[in-house]
Amino acid sequence: MTTNGNPEYVFLDTQMVPYRDACVHIMTPCVKYGQLVFEGIRAYWNDTDHQLYLFRLRDHSRRLLQSCALMRYDHLFAEDTFSSANISLLRELSCKEDMHIRQMVFLDGDGRLGARGPVRMAAVALPRGRNVDAVEGLHVSISSWIRIDDTSMPPRIKAAANYHNGRLGLLQAQLDGYDSTIFLNKAGKVAEGSGACVFMVRDSVAVTPPVTSGILESITRSTLMEISATELNMCVFEREIDRTELYTADEVFFCGTGAEVTPILSIDRHEVGNGGVGHYTERLREAYLNVARGSHQQYRCWLTPVYEN
Ligand code: PMP
Repeated sequence: MTTNGNPEYVFLDTQMVPYRDACVHIMTPCVKYGQLVFEGIRAYWNDTDHQLYLFRLRDHSRRLLQSCALMRYDHLFAEDTFSSANISLLRELSCKEDMHIRQMVFLDGDGRLGARGPVRMAAVALPRGRNVDAVEGLHVSISSWIRIDDTSMPPRIKAAANYHNGRLGLLQAQLDGYDSTIFLNKAGKVAEGSGACVFMVRDSVAVTPPVTSGILESITRSTLMEISATELNMCVFEREIDRTELYTADEVFFCGTGAEVTPILSIDRHEVGNGGVGHYTERLREAYLNVARGSHQQYRCWLTPVYEN
């Protein structure tokens, strides 16, 4: 790490470059039109194994490739190129703690709106432990901003430009005294948060909106659906959710690579359950963190070791 908290090196195209040298020009489609797709990936340090594990690396590489294809970028990287960039980066930085990588594919050059290249890739890694709010829980609103839609700006593409929608809702919520917000889609059904998916438990049934509700196809969401069934013996149902169902739910939480499992304590000032962290949320969070750190043998297939021990 440099003295101002930035990593010494980032991965750019095919090699490590010093942090300050990883720059693009103001006339790139990346700057002019927000032509950038990305992934947020976590790596968990396992003290017993003395190993750093990237969590669901292949799934992140696949989704990044899918975003590039949907944006019609003219150079499609091999999945392995993405994965090996991240491994080399963490090795180069000799990381021995929980890390978060932001891997980006973007358009360089000075092309216009229809430019499809030149395509470049970068990855930046920073230490990242648990979010404090992930432990304590959030007070959220239902946003008056509507979630972007597959007919105009598909949330399925993890494009930087999509985050304008998330940012408008998040900042409005924070100005109004909330920690965060949940978006409804055009049909008025629950979509997702600004950077996380939503789950609720109502009458002992766990539910999450389907991937057609205007959400990112979250890797954490699919992880939780699987481990809820296997570890907690509770299947998660995918179905549309009404706003007032959230008000009357027993438990609600956000999930995502960054958010992990983040309890929601109130929605539009309606207390969720008894206002504390719910039992299912607590157990699912614990199971998730154990799986991600490598405590469950049957889920080792989701882990990619960084070091050759
Ligand atoms: N929705 C949005 C809008 C997000 O930004 C994220 C974070 N990537 C998620 C959901 C959760 O996705 P994942 O579990 O793949 O990180």
